[in-house]
Amino acid sequence: MRARPVILHLDLDAFFTAVEQLHKPSLRGKPVVVGGVRGRGVVSTASYEARAFGIRSAMATSEARRRCPNAAFLSPRFPAYRDASAAVMELVRAVTPLVEQVSIDEAYLDLTPALPSPGVDEVEETAERLRARIHDATGLTASIGGGTSKLVAKIHSDLAKPDGLLVVPAGEEAQRLAPMSVRAIPGVGPATAARLSAYGVTTVGRLAELGVDECVALLGKAHGTQLHAFALGADDREVVIERAAKSVSAETTFDTDVTDRVRLGAHLRALTERVGERLRTDGLSGRTVVLKARRHDFSTVTRSVTLDQPTDDTAVVLRQAERLLAALDVSDGLRLVGVGVSGLSLYTQPDLLDGLLDDSLPAPQAPSRVDDFARPDAGGGDGGSAEPLPAAGDEPEPATVSWRPGQDVEHTEHGRGWVQGSGVGRVTVRFEGPHTEVGRVRTFAVDDPDLTAADPPTWQPGDAPPDDPAAR
Ligand SMILES: [Mg+2]
Repeated sequence: MRARPVILHLDLDAFFTAVEQLHKPSLRGKPVVVGGVRGRGVVSTASYEARAFGIRSAMATSEARRRCPNAAFLSPRFPAYRDASAAVMELVRAVTPLVEQVSIDEAYLDLTPALPSPGVDEVEETAERLRARIHDATGLTASIGGGTSKLVAKIHSDLAKPDGLLVVPAGEEAQRLAPMSVRAIPGVGPATAARLSAYGVTTVGRLAELGVDECVALLGKAHGTQLHAFALGADDREVVIERAAKSVSAETTFDTDVTDRVRLGAHLRALTERVGERLRTDGLSGRTVVLKARRHDFSTVTRSVTLDQPTDDTAVVLRQAERLLAALDVSDGLRLVGVGVSGLSLYTQPDLLDGLLDDSLPAPQAPSRVDDFARPDAGGGDGGSAEPLPAAGDEPEPATVSWRPGQDVEHTEHGRGWVQGSGVGRVTVRFEGPHTEVGRVRTFAVDDPDLTAADPPTWQPGDAPPDDPAAR
């Protein structure tokens, strides 16, 4: 905890879908969902327009389609997001060298090197300037929270969303946090909230009043001490400049302790898919698979296994992680499970796009799968096998042709565009880019030799602004 509000938490607003709307004029102001578009995929990000329909991150895509059949459901384009993130983080690091990037669209900043003893006004000016620079350079909006600690900064970037700024002056932390639900404190899930509620504690202020001894008696030593300090706005965690990634991991915290191995296995699979995607996106592979679990009493266990060869293959990582989980006693329940790969080395993927295909189907069926979000009846959220398949020999196109919704493409005659949907031997492309008007849609055979995959477009400042109403 600092004497001045020099810690900022920056979080890009609806990042993946914001990049999609920037690159695809026809989607601006429209509900857009990025995530696993097939089978049992889940929503990664929903645009604010899609959130109005109740669509949220981690929701099953099939449920999201039910809530808003006309939303655009797109596969992620990690290379585009990575480029946009890099551009943002470069601007962030120009403000202060003390930057801890915690995810592709989130970072903590410690402004001390830039502003040794600032007042709230100077911190706000600095943060506002950064937000403006990010918008000018990338077209994206960032929300920023500021305060004397990571805790206060993080809670307030969330409250500032979207496209906002909230800086809490030193000394006002406890008072600001007091009326909030205990759920605002990291580490308070529904189970802890319910336990506290039974003692009449529903707000952060009541939690602070409870006193540290009561908190410990109620929640155990580690958890109780930590939550009581947080309730007072006390948080000593430093902003740590990250080194090159030594490991790639993903974890999830449950609302209630989970003992069901089937559920744990499903979470493990989803987490491993994310880890695999990250490895392949960053061109990394690793030899050590790590399983992390936190028990109901907050003790954390990690188990690991080291492979002969480095891997970036989701199936290989999953097999090891499942073995490690199977050997773990979960009878008292787990509140967190995580999977990671460490011992990383650079590895060049022969075809990055292939690696990013979400649950691609067995080759002979690939071109027949319908993913056209423009046709609600094509959604479904079922597996590929339910689709009527052409009889063998009916479809002359090579089995390797498969287009993902949202994918960047180029046509020799019509120029650059993106895949709006594909199925039954056809692919629908909308020809537009960041600086064009809303584009025309055309349909081709999936194996049209004039149509090829393309790199993501870039958004350059100074051209037509992406939120130009004329482009809607
Ligand atoms: Mg974000």
